[in-house]
Amino acid sequence: MPRYDYDLITIGGGSGGVRASRMSANFGARVALIEERQLGGTCVNVGCIPKKLLSYAAHYAGDFADSAGFGWSVASHDFDWARLIANKNREISRLNGVYAKLLNDAGVTVIEARGRLIDAHTVQAGERTLTAQHILVATGGWPVVPPIPGAELAITSNEAFHLARLPERVVVVGGGYVAVEFSSIFKGLGVRTTLVYRGSQLLRGFDQDLGRVLAEEMAQKGVEILLDSNIERIERKGAALALRFVSGETRETDLVLYATGRAPLTHGLGLEAAGVALAANGAIKVDEFFRSSVPSICAIGDVIDRIQLTPVAIAEGTALANTLFNNLPRRMDYGNVPTAVFSHPNVATVGLSEKQARERHGEVEVYVAHFRPLKGTLSGSTERVFMKLVVDRTTDRVLGVHMVGTDAGEVIQGFAVALKCGATKAQFDATVGIHPTGAEEFVTMRTPRSRQA
Ligand code: NDP
Repeated sequence: MPRYDYDLITIGGGSGGVRASRMSANFGARVALIEERQLGGTCVNVGCIPKKLLSYAAHYAGDFADSAGFGWSVASHDFDWARLIANKNREISRLNGVYAKLLNDAGVTVIEARGRLIDAHTVQAGERTLTAQHILVATGGWPVVPPIPGAELAITSNEAFHLARLPERVVVVGGGYVAVEFSSIFKGLGVRTTLVYRGSQLLRGFDQDLGRVLAEEMAQKGVEILLDSNIERIERKGAALALRFVSGETRETDLVLYATGRAPLTHGLGLEAAGVALAANGAIKVDEFFRSSVPSICAIGDVIDRIQLTPVAIAEGTALANTLFNNLPRRMDYGNVPTAVFSHPNVATVGLSEKQARERHGEVEVYVAHFRPLKGTLSGSTERVFMKLVVDRTTDRVLGVHMVGTDAGEVIQGFAVALKCGATKAQFDATVGIHPTGAEEFVTMRTPRSRQA
């Protein structure tokens, strides 16, 4: 008789939890996964996937406008939000089913319930009490709204995916990923959009040029961007919302979306009772092998608050499954994790910002290109592409590759491999470009910014 019901019980069926569970089962472990909502977690249900679908929808506005210079006349382009949302929901349901099938095929028992820790080896799943040798907490995160008066009148990204109708006017609060992505979506779909950010430059933490260039491009597309600005209170005023800013200014809008970060979802899980140590922000503290202060309890993904990105949670899940059930202790390499922001235009980056590179490597050489892409010559679009390389002057290693422009994520993914391999600027220069593309600019930059006129 095995000592425990399962070798692994995972609480949370998002990207990280599903990957760790499936792989562990493939390595021969007896695995149960507990999830109270839809499988797939934030990414599949209220994150990456539906966001990208809405982003595609919003891009058509620009595409219709661009097409005229190429000879097209698009007679009418009515937009139907309800149809988009219904189609999006159908695709998300399909993906929920794919996740269920993947888990089932791997032999993972899926339990639809709320999971709660009882002790180091015991979990309550609804009415059932189950035991496991290892417990994995992969419960992710949840949007945070600052506690200002009227905060309950605002929505978060969770609700934005299910709006019954598009508002005429929206105010988006925040200057990070979700804020710039949703501002671009709303604007593209024809909503009068205002972004309110408390700082002076969007995308804090990214290379500084990216936030500056993105703000210029978004403003060019008609998003009103209020920097160094914040909302003090929200009140209902008939069908509208009345906003009062810290500056004293007031204005009305139809919808307020808070995109002010996400907090680890650790509340009410019985973690404290089980003796699991939490950081000040509620994240589960783990060691390099994802073990919490209770060795049989592990955690991965947004709930450990290292890098809140789906592919990172998946990689952590892979490392953990190998460590626990494949006799291959694996650490996660958090270096050179590429990332893209699906604003319009896209932003993508891998490696160090110019500031980080100077702090860590001293002398750096910076190469930039800022140009109107070929398509713009006929479309008439004023959108420009920005590209930047940060190079270690001593070793010639490329430390950072940054871009604002169409499909930046697609471009940077390839360069992320080069950085992982430790590519030098000389190797970039020795690479033949693909012509005519925007991306070829990354292998044809010859004059550092410091020596440009
Ligand atoms: P971010 O941490 O990216 O941005 C939060 C923003 O809200 C910041 O601009 C922050 O300002 C601001 N903010 C925080 N608190 C307040 C406050 N009290 N009042 C006003 N503004 C405030 O969080 P997001 O919600 O945008 O996204 C959460 C995470 O999800 C991201 O960090 C990312 O890891 C992930 N994500 C990834 C995506 C992708 O891969 N494309 C897409 C969406 C999300 P300040 O800069 O001053 O701190």
